[in-house]
Amino acid sequence: MQPRRQRPNTDAPPTANALTLPKDTNSGQEMETSLDHHQMEGSCSSSGGVSIDCDKPAETATREFLVSLLECPVCFSYMMPPIMQCSRGHLICSQCRNKLNVCPVCRVPMTNIRNLAMEKVGSKLIFPCKHACYGCRMRLSYADKKSHEEDCEFRPYFCPYPDEKCVWQGALKDVYKHFVSTHQNVITMEGTDIIFLATNVNQVGALDWTMIQSCHGRHFLLSLEKVQLGEGCQQYFAACRMIGTMRDAADFDYLISLEANNRTLKWQSKPRSIRESFVTYTNADFLVLNKSTVELFSEDGNLALNIIIKKADNGVQD
Ligand SMILES: [Zn+2]
Ligand SMILES: [Zn+2]
Ligand SMILES: [Zn+2]
Ligand SMILES: [Zn+2]
Repeated sequence: MQPRRQRPNTDAPPTANALTLPKDTNSGQEMETSLDHHQMEGSCSSSGGVSIDCDKPAETATREFLVSLLECPVCFSYMMPPIMQCSRGHLICSQCRNKLNVCPVCRVPMTNIRNLAMEKVGSKLIFPCKHACYGCRMRLSYADKKSHEEDCEFRPYFCPYPDEKCVWQGALKDVYKHFVSTHQNVITMEGTDIIFLATNVNQVGALDWTMIQSCHGRHFLLSLEKVQLGEGCQQYFAACRMIGTMRDAADFDYLISLEANNRTLKWQSKPRSIRESFVTYTNADFLVLNKSTVELFSEDGNLALNIIIKKADNGVQD
């Protein structure tokens, strides 16, 4: 396949924004109330959040009502402290407050009034994970929500194609569909043992070659990335990443072999998951080739990588 100009190394998927306080806001510590935490959460709660619901119907309705009051009218996420309000009492989350000059509900000029009572109510509630729309059923307290969401297994996947222009993100089951419909230059080859042919590997500049290998009922993204490290110094990273979770990827092994001019080079490792960003990827244990190795193994400027993907035995005998 033909090379493609590569995005800069510093590119990484966006991360969640941290909470920011307006400059003149009172950020002092508040006294704990005597309200029993577990009374409102119900008996099935735990410090790590709950995914089941066994409250009495009336308590559940009250709790759901209180949770709904804390939905930001602008971004629809649940408000975390500091919760801000307009002079007429309409609530807004602190991120949206920082972007607006007038109340989104009644249009009065926004001030920096904090609603401490609603923050206390919120501290006794559990909220749905923000990835609920992708299938997460966890409900979490203020204390656990942010750290869970950063690591939630339902958080959306970013498009793994090395193109800074593609901003697609979505559920894992839709990644391959997105890939074949949007990045039509990327071919898919079926089989556990295939040849990944990268053409014009000596072409100047940072380049990448990408294809998909389908086998064992799964899709694997094969890529060769040429990274320019300085004047005349370049490295090639050959990688196999699974369109799957990190747990799924651990079930497989892949083998890359290069053969040319009476020389053989073999590399065996476990595929990574596409969960891992490009930055992690260049630092990870992928096959790294320098310019002279690539020259030794390429023929007419083309590098043929033989890729074999097999199920890992992981110590299980059958
Ligand atoms: Zn908001
Ligand atoms: Zn208002
Ligand atoms: Zn979640
Ligand atoms: Zn894409």
